[in-house]
Amino acid sequence: MNPTPTDGAHSPLASQGGTPTRAQFLPIAVPDIGARERELVMQALDSGWITTGPRTFELATEIARRATAKHAVVVNSATGALHLALEAMGVHEGDEVITTPYTFAATVNVIEHVRARPVLVDVEPDTLCIDPRRVEAAISPRTKVVISVDYAGHPCDYDALRALTVPRGIRILDDAAHALGAASHGRPVGSAALADVTAFSFYATKNLTTGEGGAAVTDDDALAERIRLLSLHGMNRDAWKRYGATGSWFYEITAPGWKYNLSDLLAAIGVAQLERFDASQARRHELVARYAAGFAGCDAVRVPIARAGMTHAWHLYPIALELDRLTIDRGRFIEELRAENIGTSVHFIPLHFHPHFRTSLGYAEGTFPVAEDAYRRAITLPLFAGMTDRDADDVIAAVRKVASAFRK
Ligand SMILES: *Cc1c(COP(=O)(O)O)cnc(C)c1O
Repeated sequence: MNPTPTDGAHSPLASQGGTPTRAQFLPIAVPDIGARERELVMQALDSGWITTGPRTFELATEIARRATAKHAVVVNSATGALHLALEAMGVHEGDEVITTPYTFAATVNVIEHVRARPVLVDVEPDTLCIDPRRVEAAISPRTKVVISVDYAGHPCDYDALRALTVPRGIRILDDAAHALGAASHGRPVGSAALADVTAFSFYATKNLTTGEGGAAVTDDDALAERIRLLSLHGMNRDAWKRYGATGSWFYEITAPGWKYNLSDLLAAIGVAQLERFDASQARRHELVARYAAGFAGCDAVRVPIARAGMTHAWHLYPIALELDRLTIDRGRFIEELRAENIGTSVHFIPLHFHPHFRTSLGYAEGTFPVAEDAYRRAITLPLFAGMTDRDADDVIAAVRKVASAFRK
């Protein structure tokens, strides 16, 4: 390829031998780990209790409080939380679960794990969250659950979803892997006003991390108890204490559960992260405002929005390229940013494009035009609480440089 930059006023592209926008590579996300995380992890290490224990329950209490939910069960991933939620809801072979293709594979893998049929519907163009009108068209007598995905940290349209699901006895399971700290009209993601069960992720790149980890929150006593039971072999409630001074050797297995519990070593990281969570979310919001101002007037780039009344968690900052104004595609744009030392990613490759789901689901390309169009334009830019203003300015400068070099 031999691109011809159209704006000679700009410095030459790094890919053409020019100086990169930054001297050092800026990753898309760097976990914010400080002295407090080290302190609490060392305390856990020295405590003699390194599996599930007091720190894990402290993390659960704090997550439930933030989500304004009655119960939180902390587990070792959001995937595990989603899987156990479907199990606890009694979803099985012959049932249908509606969700979107614009998500991570785990959302649909767990539906396959319980042998239910995933029914995918397209997303809304502005938020890339599940489109309630398409949910309505996809509901059948077999529909048991709708899995909403609060894409990038933007809450789905729960008022519209609940108007469809509640009268029909269909439950909402929220994949809130991106959305700890988000709210819809003042109702926190995780609250029973939005979903029956909500799954959070504490994976390394997420806006709160324990390295690996997750939680299921709910107001439903029976679902919470079932999720808790299934997360640790199907052992009854306090079996985790059986090696401690207050524990008993006796336990009973009441179901063939899984091994999805979290270690206190990791929970300690989460407890430390939560102490700073409000400040770190505020920093994300500042950086997003800086990006929005920095991209103003750059007509090759569409920035993500928050609808009125929504508190966005800003886990991700996905821009959309205006491809009809550019001479290059999204893949090439990412390569150019990489040469400028800016790390990016794509959220998401629509699930029906993956070899496995092509076979298991059988949706042809073209079935979900909104998600497919979003994918072709999508670039997720760096966003993390430890980013400096200078880092954000470098990202803005690099995107503008590449956009103007390849402007049609
Ligand atoms: C990260 C992610 C998950 C999986 O989270 P884990 O904690 O890694 O299991 C699920 N859904 C979405 C939308 C995600 O981005």
